Amino acid sequence: AIMPTLLSGIANGARQGILFKNGAQLEKIGKVRAIAFDKTGTLTTGQLQVFQVISVSEYTQSNVLKAAASVESYSEHPIGKAIVQAAGETVRVLAVPVESKLLNPKGDLDLVGAIQVQAIPGQGIVGIAQEQQIIVGNAVFVQQYVTNLPEELREIAQSLEQEGKTVVWVAQGNIAEVMGVIAIADEVRSQATATITRLKQLGIEQIVMLTGDNEETAQSVAKAVGIDRVYAQLLPEDKLDVIRHLQQKYQTVAMVGDGINDAPALAQASVGIAMGISGSDVALEAADIVLMADKLEKIAVAMHLGRRSQSIVK
Ligand code: ADP
Ligand code: MG
Repeated sequence: AIMPTLLSGIANGARQGILFKNGAQLEKIGKVRAIAFDKTGTLTTGQLQVFQVISVSEYTQSNVLKAAASVESYSEHPIGKAIVQAAGETVRVLAVPVESKLLNPKGDLDLVGAIQVQAIPGQGIVGIAQEQQIIVGNAVFVQQYVTNLPEELREIAQSLEQEGKTVVWVAQGNIAEVMGVIAIADEVRSQATATITRLKQLGIEQIVMLTGDNEETAQSVAKAVGIDRVYAQLLPEDKLDVIRHLQQKYQTVAMVGDGINDAPALAQASVGIAMGISGSDVALEAADIVLMADKLEKIAVAMHLGRRSQSIVK
């Protein structure tokens, strides 16, 4: 009797936009006791937009945006895309050195001429534009290059983060100095809060958020959706470690994510769940279950189907 039950569960899921890669995962999701959510692109839409640019006195907002866009034009990160979009036509078209053509097979070449661009996952990006080193990333990352982050800018950054904005720092120079910060806004998915509420009703014992973003921003989003436990400033391998720890305590642990940076955690989780539309290929491959229309609320549906398949089998 096992097969028809599993198959009907899987078919039922498929009708509702939940793709189970195999029957074992249907049963497993019914046993989940703890669940971890990535923030950007998972609990939020991940459609980032530049919200505000603040420069230190020697620079203009446009200087900050252009410098950042020169290196971010090589980035696939949503933060990079938002910055490039905002810089838009204000970015001067420079002659493009041959080297950068090699670095950028996807072809944003007409935008700017940064070379030797290097993206460091979960941290930021560096490159050289107009013979100046350009550094864009989170505070910890940029601090590796500059002697200090100006105090008044730190305060502004903090208050933006408390509103849920992601703040990236921009520095320039071979002896680098801070040019300013770019605050980036994201939107919480409409079903995020309802989904968390539902998971609590289903008796899930632990619900956490895992993010590469900073603590303040993460707390603000967590509060908005009803998640109490936040792990911030995580690298991809740190996300995996948190999943392992949760497994020691709760055995069956689900992870929901969309990014390349979530792939190790999705693979480690007892049940990896990826966002079907916005998810990166790497995340989709690492996951066991795919939410075809990015609908978070389907997680609760999947758990319900999983629990039902178990109770019928037994
Ligand atoms: P998340 O877990 O929220 O999806 P990531 O792990 O991708 O975030 O990135 C974590 C942080 O690293 C970002 O919030 C940002 O501060 C910084 N960062 C990563 N990539 C970039 C980039 N291309 N440009 C600027 N900052 C970046
Ligand atoms: Mg993400």
